This record gives sequence, C-alpha cells and structure tokens, in this order.
Amino acid sequence: MIHRIVFSCIVATVICCQILPGQTRSTDPGRTLGNRNQVQKFRKPTAAEILLNRSQAMAWAERTRNEIVPTMHLVETPHFLLFSAWNRSNDQALRNVCEDMYNKLSSQFSLSKNETIWIGKCPIYIFWETEHFKQFTRTIDNSGNRDAGITRASGYHSRKGIFSYIVMNRTVKPWMDRNQAIQRFYEVLVHEGTHAFMNRYISNWSIPLWVNEGLAEFMAATLVPLSSANRDYINEVRNALLSRRDMGSIFRARDLSSREYDLAQSLVRYLVAHNSKSFIELIGLLKEGYPQSMALKKAYNTDQQDLILYWSRYWRRQVF
Ligand SMILES: [Zn+2]
Repeated sequence: MIHRIVFSCIVATVICCQILPGQTRSTDPGRTLGNRNQVQKFRKPTAAEILLNRSQAMAWAERTRNEIVPTMHLVETPHFLLFSAWNRSNDQALRNVCEDMYNKLSSQFSLSKNETIWIGKCPIYIFWETEHFKQFTRTIDNSGNRDAGITRASGYHSRKGIFSYIVMNRTVKPWMDRNQAIQRFYEVLVHEGTHAFMNRYISNWSIPLWVNEGLAEFMAATLVPLSSANRDYINEVRNALLSRRDMGSIFRARDLSSREYDLAQSLVRYLVAHNSKSFIELIGLLKEGYPQSMALKKAYNTDQQDLILYWSRYWRRQVF
C-alpha cells in the first residue's frame, strides 16, 4: 500500500494511495526478451471479463446512489465510466481531462489507437463531499475499514481481482481558490490514472515504488502544468544536491514521503530525458518481473550508484 503524506502546520493529509491487495504475476505477460515491439502490451480481456467488470462498476454506482449520494450519475467516455457526484455542468470538463490523460499515456507507451488497455472501461467514482467519499470507502469497497488512512486520501487506485478502479475525493482545501482546487483535482486524477494504467500495462506485476510514484508524478506534472507536481520537484532536487542527500534510500523505500515523491519524479525525468525508449524498455522489464538492478543494467547499461551520479550531474546543470 502506498501513501503520500503532506504535512501542513496542523494535520497530515494523505494525498493519494494505491491499494494493491496481493501482487500476482500475470499468467500471460507476453515476454519476449530483446524485442520490446513483440511484447504483448497488455493481456487481452475476454468478453465475459468485460461484462463482469462493467456489471461490478454499475453495481457499486447503484449502491452509492441509493445509500450515499443520489446525484451520482454516469458520464461515459470512450475509455472511462465516470460516476460523478459533481454538478452536471462539470461533465464535459471531466470527460475531456480523462480522455486527454488516456491519450497521453497511450502514446507514451505506444499503444494502438484502436485498442484499449482497460478491461472494457476504467471506472472512476468522483465525490464532491468528503463525507460521501469516506462512506464509500467504508461501505462500498471496504478500503477505509482495512486502512483508516484511506478515508483521508485525496484519491486512490485499487483493484479487487481483475476489477480495477479509481476513487476521487474532494480536493478543495481552505487555502485554495477555485482554480487551484481544480488543478489539484486534475493532478490527483492523472496520478491515480497512471497507476491504473500501469496496473494493466504488460502484466499486473508491481514495479518498484520509486518508478511507480515517479512516473505518476511525471504524468501529473506533464498533463497539469500548473500542478504542484510540476513545481515542487525542482526545489527538492536543489535541496538534495546541496545537502548531498543519500539518494540510494529511495531505491529501497517501502514508503515515500512527499519530498521523496518529488525526487522519484526527478529520477524518472532524468531517465526519460536521457533515453525515452530505454525508459519504456525499463518499465517492460520490471513488469516482466526483473529485479530493478537487472532491469537498469539491461535497459540503461547502468547500476543504481552510477544512475545517482548521472542524475546529479544532469540536475546540477538544470537547477544551478
Ligand atoms: Zn501514487
């Protein structure tokens, strides 16, 4: 389970979570070493799985409508089932941001426009009232009962068997104006959407935390230019370089602080800037179950120690 925690002067608020109940190796990851083009990008779902997924998504939405918030309604897009409790005037904007997110991820990982990575469509439950979100975690998917931290999240991605979904909380904070609140919502949405995408890409084998969170932050920063994800990492990189921070701990971390999310993003940014094709190769190897040291060696011909060295050289030129 992954939490991102941001400390304000009064409370610690969980920003996002990814709940992965049990890691399983895909039965058919389509492994073909040495030729990434021949690797199956994702396991093709059966018609029965697509139907089952949609029924599950609809059933939860119906229960949510009946038991929590009657205004929840379906906004269906080519790739998503958006169950929104927001005012209907926001439907088009939600539709656009989700499809933009999908198209960006899809082109980043060279998926054909004619195929979708999801099992049918990806369900996203979107709440306006925090109390409704909490109720959902306690009475619909049960995540809040397993981990109370989830009830304070701004959003999370989770899965139950093959059923993968995203839940979004209200992200408005007292110090935010309307525009900041919208930017924050989109930032969390893209972050969680990236986790959902990566959960289906090649296999459902989990990738190292720093890659998973760094990539989610990188996508959020790219798609939401006014987001904090697109600002804060620069300061963290500068601080890490000035203080000669031990970057090796990030590769071993089982949980990351907010600052470490920023540094993880800077590592991903460096790898993509250095060679974007190698980055896709790296992700592919990790999703096939290779240990990160071996995947780094194969994709970038480097190890963690040298990666940190090259990372620091690259960012010294960028931030000073
Ligand atoms: Zn995350």
